[in-house]
Amino acid sequence: MAHICVMNTQELLIKKYNKPIPRYTSYPTVPYWSNYPNQEQWKKEVKEQFIASNTKEGISIYIHLPFCESLCTYCGCNTRITVNHAVEIPYIEALEKEFLLYLALFDERPRIAELHLGGGTPTFFKAENLDRLISFIFKHADVTENPSLSFEAHPGNTNIEHLFILAQYGFKRLSLGIQDFDPHVQEIINRKQSVEDVARVMNQARSLGYDSINFDLIYGLPDQTLDSIRKTINEVIKFMPERIAFYSYAHVPWLKPGQRKYDESNLPKDDEKYALYELGRTMLENAGYIEIGMDHFALSNDSLLKAASLKKLHRNFMGYTDNHTHLLLALGVSSISDTWTCFAQNEKKLEDYYRRLDNNELPIMKGHLLSEDDLIRRKLILEMMCTLKTAFKPELLNSSMFSLLNELMADNLVQIFDDKIEVSYTGKSLLRNCCSVYDAYLTNDAIVHQKFSMAV
Ligand code: SF4
Repeated sequence: MAHICVMNTQELLIKKYNKPIPRYTSYPTVPYWSNYPNQEQWKKEVKEQFIASNTKEGISIYIHLPFCESLCTYCGCNTRITVNHAVEIPYIEALEKEFLLYLALFDERPRIAELHLGGGTPTFFKAENLDRLISFIFKHADVTENPSLSFEAHPGNTNIEHLFILAQYGFKRLSLGIQDFDPHVQEIINRKQSVEDVARVMNQARSLGYDSINFDLIYGLPDQTLDSIRKTINEVIKFMPERIAFYSYAHVPWLKPGQRKYDESNLPKDDEKYALYELGRTMLENAGYIEIGMDHFALSNDSLLKAASLKKLHRNFMGYTDNHTHLLLALGVSSISDTWTCFAQNEKKLEDYYRRLDNNELPIMKGHLLSEDDLIRRKLILEMMCTLKTAFKPELLNSSMFSLLNELMADNLVQIFDDKIEVSYTGKSLLRNCCSVYDAYLTNDAIVHQKFSMAV
């Protein structure tokens, strides 16, 4: 007997477009980096961009603090799991040394426009050790007029000392990893934190003047249901953080073996996962949040939204930001620096990172010097990620890119209007696919299948 398959338009779109695709935190995306800079080329790139940027706009610094006491099974970050806090001081000494190696390249003190502590778990470190690290940075650098100083925090181990010490240096932004409030989901992903933990950190942070708080949430985790997402978002809305990152869970167990700890059959299927996102998006919009680019929501008074309306939104390896500097120096194991014309990633293994610094070398292991063509495409993809539209440049499209564009137009995900490619409301949820029109590296080969998470 013939089956009659009834799918709605959204389900058909998901079926068609849900394939491995980059998140475009960089272009070219990391698996396609090939034109690695050597030490001298990298130093030259950094020096040139420092001279061009420091006085005008300042620079950004990202510091990766990789340690966590236990592994969240969904984790996609570069971490080192340990309960041995003796690792803190040697790591901070290494960061200080790395910063000094960069300072030796400059003729003037850096002006920091943006400083972000990420991880790992920055609040794994004792407050006094974070104090030592930040005081070292500020001993050698100034800040711009209105710098953005922020850190990522685990609600379970963030204490008033962390918040207080960093507030003394001008930190006003805090990003709390919430992921999901459902106890059963928390059990499966090995990430336990109560609503009470979050309330305590929020209250302490607010009393110390933190005025931009972000919650990270994830949809598509094992055993998440419409009901559990509804309850989680209802709790989140009670706190009204200024920003919410509502990320799609990236299932890449061949890269992150921790993800093998749960049964894949517990993961929501494509259309179920999309329904989780749709529910979350609707609830957040009803609560007054406005969606920005991809995965991000903000209240109307938040600077991210103001930057979006002024077309000043930027996106880098940390996500969306309202501070667009052309030099991002990343310190710490596995972190990625960006001079706009070149990317460089530090050694991914802690031991290699220490060894390179012991040899007085900048600890970069790979990167990519961008060609003229890369730079043009990078700008177009970034613009589409940030503003949902960009210039239509037919001369940059080969036949397979044209056919993808035609498919996207036929499915009402994009339209061409006034020499611009514009992403539609429906296309927003498949923004990565829309951006891939300009990706000259993306081919239907093994790299795609092994390196990227699915579009939905
Ligand atoms: S998700 Fe965050 S806290 Fe959990 S293991 Fe990964 S880096 Fe550590």
